[in-house]
Amino acid sequence: MQIYDVLIIGAGIAGLNAAINLPKEKKVLILCKENSWDCNTFYAQGGISVAVDENDIEAHIEDTLNAGAGLCDKKAVEVLCSEGRSAVDSLINRGFKFDKDENGHLLYTKEAAHSTNRILHAGGDATGREVHLFLMQNNPHPLMYKTTVVNILKEDNNVHGVRVYHQGKFKNIYSKNLIIASGGIGSLYEYHTNARTISADLQGLALECGCELRDMEMTQFHPTVFVSMEKARKQLLSESLRGEGAYVVNEKGERFLFDYDKRGELSPRDIVSRAIFDYKQKHKGDIVYLSFENFEKEFFKHRFPTIYYNLKGLGFNLPEDRVPISPAFHYFMGGIKCDINARVENFENLYVIGEAANTRVHGANRLASNSLLEGLVFSIRAAKDILSHKQTFSHKKFEEKDEILFKNGDKALKNELREIMWEKVGIIRSKKELKVALKRVDEMLSQDIGKLLKLRLLTSKEIIKSALRRDKSLGAHYIKE
Ligand SMILES: Cc1cc2nc3c(=O)[nH]c(=O)nc-3n(C[C@H](O)[C@H](O)[C@H](O)COP(=O)(O)OP(=O)(O)OC[C@H]3O[C@@H](n4cnc5c(N)ncnc54)[C@H](O)[C@@H]3O)c2cc1C
Repeated sequence: MQIYDVLIIGAGIAGLNAAINLPKEKKVLILCKENSWDCNTFYAQGGISVAVDENDIEAHIEDTLNAGAGLCDKKAVEVLCSEGRSAVDSLINRGFKFDKDENGHLLYTKEAAHSTNRILHAGGDATGREVHLFLMQNNPHPLMYKTTVVNILKEDNNVHGVRVYHQGKFKNIYSKNLIIASGGIGSLYEYHTNARTISADLQGLALECGCELRDMEMTQFHPTVFVSMEKARKQLLSESLRGEGAYVVNEKGERFLFDYDKRGELSPRDIVSRAIFDYKQKHKGDIVYLSFENFEKEFFKHRFPTIYYNLKGLGFNLPEDRVPISPAFHYFMGGIKCDINARVENFENLYVIGEAANTRVHGANRLASNSLLEGLVFSIRAAKDILSHKQTFSHKKFEEKDEILFKNGDKALKNELREIMWEKVGIIRSKKELKVALKRVDEMLSQDIGKLLKLRLLTSKEIIKSALRRDKSLGAHYIKE
């Protein structure tokens, strides 16, 4: 029986950076659904936040704690901000190129709720794509594409590997350590910015395994998304656009955000999301736009090439045209509870990193661009922890049991779930609507459904239950009393 030293579920920034921090001599296998670029990391636009120097660490901690609205774990935030610099420098030392000015100095930009310019970017607004390509090029371990994890093989508090669906067949893959780096939950929502592979499978499996999932009600919505398009993944208009001068305006061209918060366009994203949502509700039929009137064409094209060309493909000529926007689900602060070494509680050899993890580093609201940094910092910690501890249990073979992944009728239920999550478990919640959502999710769970829909439903149910438990609004969770 082949047993890997480490099995990594997910080929985003967290999974790949864990892999490049595990020596070539170790038997490591990375698994991902679809193609390697089908992940949120690939679509990240704005950049990676990092303390500019030693003196900035305290301020980065402070900004992160403020955004987290009292729900952060201070120790985890200290780890993120103090180890962030070396994690980013390790990328640079391996040869990664962030954008620089004409004198060769790193260019730092500003995003909402950061007290200073500390966001590094690459390829203008293609940071995620550049980082992903670089990590793929530097990864010394094999990667199995088009592989969906459908079960975790576990006994007592040991994990033995996973069961996967690959090229029309199921198989067990065994390992001494398992790292979950499977990202967030975007596809649970009707409108979202996430890659299509991000559908909460591992959150559901973790629940089935008895892991604790924490802060599940903390779902972040991005305020500036172009949603009038066919694809499930909607086109994000990065936070840094507002950071660098884009305005949110109504049909008359008026900047109405100051009516909601004195920071206007630079308010944290949940405030901007709610303001736009509220404005649209109060002015039924009115369109809200992102306006780029402050940008000079050549600068815009050079600084935001991805947005420029993506929007061109959708019929917009930027920066002259303004783009209709709506908030959409974007990022998940909740996740599988783990410690600051990424270990999942009560398990000997189970780790979770990246957006799937909950170290409470983001608390109730993530500070912009802290998530790529989280992926870098905690993947290094997980790799170190794995290399420093010895396995004490012996491996066993698990039954080769096939799963029914899809059943007739799943698609309609999946779409209904996405509508429920958007309308009743979205930007503005109420206990009444949450209860309606819970009832319907329970009904769906009791039907004859396939495994993948079941995992979506289990995760959704946990989000709704957590939202119901929290009476007062906090951070990204906003509840009408
Ligand atoms: C449009 C967009 C822009 C963003 N911009 C920024 C930004 O500028 N700065 C920032 O810090 N953050 C940004 N974020 C957030 C950030 O990109 C993500 O939080 C981060 O990339 C998550 O990395 P990850 O490695 O945890 O997961 P991902 O990169 O999402 O990778 C998840 C991996 O898990 C795999 N997977 C999932 N389920 C299974 C399964 N069942 N079986 C096998 N494999 C599975 C997927 O195939 C994928 O390979 C942005 C997010 C989006 C969507």
